[in-house]
Amino acid sequence: MNQFRLPYHLTVAEDVFENIPEVMADVMPKLGRQKTVIVTEGNLRELFSGIIDEICSDFPDSEVFLIKDGSYDGAVALAKYITMNGFGTVIGFGGGTVLDMAKFAAYVSKTTLISLVTTLSNDSLASPVAVLGTEGKARKTFKCSIPDAILVDVNVIKSAPERQILAGIGDTVSKYTALYDWKLAGEKAGEEINDFAYMISEMAFDAIRISRKEELKSTEFITRLTQALVMGGLAMEIAGTSRPSSGSEHLFCHGLEENYSEQVNVAHGIAVAMGSYGAAVFQGRDTALLTRMIRDYGIPVKPSMQKVTEEIFVGAWQKAAASRPDRYSVLNETDLSTERLSKLYEDMENIF
Ligand SMILES: [Zn+2]
Repeated sequence: MNQFRLPYHLTVAEDVFENIPEVMADVMPKLGRQKTVIVTEGNLRELFSGIIDEICSDFPDSEVFLIKDGSYDGAVALAKYITMNGFGTVIGFGGGTVLDMAKFAAYVSKTTLISLVTTLSNDSLASPVAVLGTEGKARKTFKCSIPDAILVDVNVIKSAPERQILAGIGDTVSKYTALYDWKLAGEKAGEEINDFAYMISEMAFDAIRISRKEELKSTEFITRLTQALVMGGLAMEIAGTSRPSSGSEHLFCHGLEENYSEQVNVAHGIAVAMGSYGAAVFQGRDTALLTRMIRDYGIPVKPSMQKVTEEIFVGAWQKAAASRPDRYSVLNETDLSTERLSKLYEDMENIF
């Protein structure tokens, strides 16, 4: 059985960033007195200067570290900086890139990691992996630990653009096809299925299955989406693989990123939702549920809206499986002819 660990704290509340040592006092009473590095980006430092100043005053022995990019080299340099300067706690303040850099650096330097989430655009906030840029264009996924604490400030999320929330919904919608591919890999390639992780991931999908568009920025919905994204991360941690959250729709996203990053830049959560529709077709499933969810929430998956041309769309699907050759999915048994994919492109242009 895979060894896994869960975060000490998961708190979704208004203004929670202003009371971190108090929130964590039960498990880490000395937290506020530890030497702490607050990892964030320049634009977030400016945008949330009041909140970050407040965090600095709660952690008197702290300094702010601004990341320049989301690269592997940058994350390694950050880990070295943390070790050389004897920091005991790392606080990541931001979204995917910042949190992944902080996650990797805290993992390598064996320090406590607190994730302060400012966007719900994908499930990286609680996942046990960091996606970092390496030489060349491709980004690579590195195994790490999930954060020791995940805190989401509802007011911060409300102030972020709606498209970030839509991307987070898209990443959760994609579990519909990811879970199917996982089962398929179990049947056809003998891959181990962890029933508990499967169930948690299914619950994450169910949490956002029924909702109405106008609820998006309510505290209730933000709480529910956070829970869904965190459940997605925990499912990966428990299974010891990203399988519960990543199937052929994620391979499509890699196909786009690894081959067409100069032409298009589609947010992860939107790209995987776009891929999920196609994956559901390949899986021979009724697409009504996915279509309704994507439409109700208004997730912008129409390819042309994301500047994904027919040629790019077809190419990304045809190159999808090669991005992770060891991953069995429905793509291993699908006709990916240009003709069929062109028809799928056309259908998606009409439906969404
Ligand atoms: Zn994802």
